[in-house]
Amino acid sequence: MALKDSGLLRQAARVGSRWIYADTETGLAVTNPATGELIGYVPNLGAAETNEAIKAAETARHAWAARTAKERSQILRRWYELMMEHQDDLGAILTAEQGKPLTEAKGEITYGASFIEWFAEEARRAYGDITPSHAPDKRILTVKQPIGVVAAITPWNFPNAMITRKAGPALAAGCAMVLKPASQTPFSAIALAVLADRAGIPDGLFSVVTGSASAIGGVMTSSKTVRKLTFTGSTEVGAMLYAQCAPTIKKLGLELGGNAPFIVFDDADLDAAVEGAVIAKFRNNGQTCVCANRIYVQAGVYDAFAEKLRAKVADLPTGNGFDQGIVFGPLIDQAAVDKVAEHVSDAKAKGATVTLGGKAHELGGTFFEPTILTGVTADMAVATEETFGPVAPLFEFETEAEVIEAANDTDFGLASYFYSRDLARVWRVSEALEYGMVGINTGLISTAEAPFGGVKSSGLGREGSAHGLDDYLELKYLCMGGL
Ligand code: ADP
Repeated sequence: MALKDSGLLRQAARVGSRWIYADTETGLAVTNPATGELIGYVPNLGAAETNEAIKAAETARHAWAARTAKERSQILRRWYELMMEHQDDLGAILTAEQGKPLTEAKGEITYGASFIEWFAEEARRAYGDITPSHAPDKRILTVKQPIGVVAAITPWNFPNAMITRKAGPALAAGCAMVLKPASQTPFSAIALAVLADRAGIPDGLFSVVTGSASAIGGVMTSSKTVRKLTFTGSTEVGAMLYAQCAPTIKKLGLELGGNAPFIVFDDADLDAAVEGAVIAKFRNNGQTCVCANRIYVQAGVYDAFAEKLRAKVADLPTGNGFDQGIVFGPLIDQAAVDKVAEHVSDAKAKGATVTLGGKAHELGGTFFEPTILTGVTADMAVATEETFGPVAPLFEFETEAEVIEAANDTDFGLASYFYSRDLARVWRVSEALEYGMVGINTGLISTAEAPFGGVKSSGLGREGSAHGLDDYLELKYLCMGGL
């Protein structure tokens, strides 16, 4: 891979003040999912290095928190600028290890950097308050202080943005962070650490520990020094980490799975709904936790919608993310392909019709054809499980009440979407959907300015927005007496 700044692809982990380089014998290989080619190695670290990083974070955090918010803000701002200056290289590293098309990868860098920019600004807004007192000789003050050392575990689907969304608010608040990135996509995380160094983020404040998930996660969750764990990934692993954090009563931020409904009512602008469905369903090849997983279309427009969606998706090219014009890259690994194939064959066996795709792509490897299923019903796996791939299952419904019941009939509650032009319906449906986020007449809702997060089994806490900083702050109440 030709980079403008080859120093960004570093085969090393950042542990406290040290860079630990990988060797080819003990290191973990990272490969390109589009070609299977080796990109490089990262060190296979475990408990000892995680403890070292936590110790360094505990040391570094005091001086960092003691700086003025403006100073922290300026350093974060520099980090943001460096990310944007190196957008092409960061995008190329991301495409190489994750597979998404280069334009989409560069888009993720802009999106990821925007969290650092946003929280650089928010660093100065951690206001406390003074409350009218209950007693004439007392005053009630509330101050916000950084939570302390934060551990973060992040997934492979957004190798950059899922990190910045956590590191931005943590560092802005005055915390230190120890990160374990996903093993499939560590180089994007390491590149961020290289830029953090260049931006002047002090040693120990942002460690990136690569290696065994269970060993690193075990130390992070059991450490008394770590005061908060923030995790983005599957509900299954999230629930396990939640339990592991119980003995030390840690704060938790969990961004877990979704099973997003995407509802098209009869009164929708159908072309806009198709446009929105393509984005909500197929972005990152269906591998996002806010991807539309179940598409409900009202009976009067079902056939028209199905045909318009099929025609639109059929035109979008699949291939190596580095090739011009590619919209669909490979899936992350063979397990992902198997799950997608299973969901398709289960739906077919139970009576669904494949109107597009439906099988592994002729390109081989982990490429899968973008797929559309019609005649989908609630007894199929696609209705209850997150497919995390390029399969759009279309359910038909008759009434608003029926579709709301179906949409809410899941353990998950992250994103939801619907298309309607009836204002009263827009309010009714928005309020009735049991989800942390609702996209109304849009398939794209994520932005640094808005609170991202879910209810039910989709997680705890919110990332981004003015609320995102609070997840990294503790409230302290000062009662001033004897006045
Ligand atoms: P996904 O299905 O998106 O890969 P996972 O929940 O399996 O989601 O992985 C998300 C992150 O959690 C990755 O960084 C992964 O390495 C990490 N992880 C997986 N298992 C564990 C574990 N037992 N302890 C700590 N982290 C884990």
